[in-house]
Amino acid sequence: MDYIEQLDIYHIPRRCASCGGVMIYKGVGEYHCEDCDAVAYDDYGKVRMYIEAHNGATAAMIERDTGVSQKTIRQMLREQRIEIAADSRAFLHCDICQKAIRSGKLCPECEAKVHRSLEGQVRNQKEKSVQGFGMQQHPQGESGSKRFVRDTDRP
Ligand SMILES: [Zn+2]
Ligand SMILES: [Zn+2]
Repeated sequence: MDYIEQLDIYHIPRRCASCGGVMIYKGVGEYHCEDCDAVAYDDYGKVRMYIEAHNGATAAMIERDTGVSQKTIRQMLREQRIEIAADSRAFLHCDICQKAIRSGKLCPECEAKVHRSLEGQVRNQKEKSVQGFGMQQHPQGESGSKRFVRDTDRP
C-alpha cells in the first residue's frame, strides 16, 4: 500500500519500545501499545503536541526540541498537516473515499484504516515468528501418525 510509505516518513512507531507489542494508531499521531498501553508518537504527533504547547514556535525551535528535522516539518506544512483557511470554499477530498476534508490527503476514517492494515501486517509477522518455533512439528507428525495407524489397522 502506497499510503503506508507516505505515512512512514513520519516514523510510525510499530512495536512497543518496552514490550514489543503492536502499536495501535489512536489518531493525530498518537499510538498505544495493545499489550501494555505504553504511549508513543510519530513525528507528526510530536510536532503537533509541541506546537500546541508552544504557540508561534519556529521550525528551528521545533527541530531543536522534538528532534524532528525541519525537512520533515516543511513536508508536513506543504503536504498535508495544516488546515486550509476556514473560510475557503476550495475543499479538499479524501484520496480514498472522496469525502470532503479540510486538510491532508485522507479523511480521519481512511487514515485510520490505512493504519489498521499496517498493524495487521506487523501482527501477522509477529505471529508467524512465534509459530515458527513450536508449531512446525505438530501438523506433520500428526498426519504422519494418522496415516500409519490407518494403514496398519486395515485388515
Ligand atoms: Zn507494550
Ligand atoms: Zn476517506
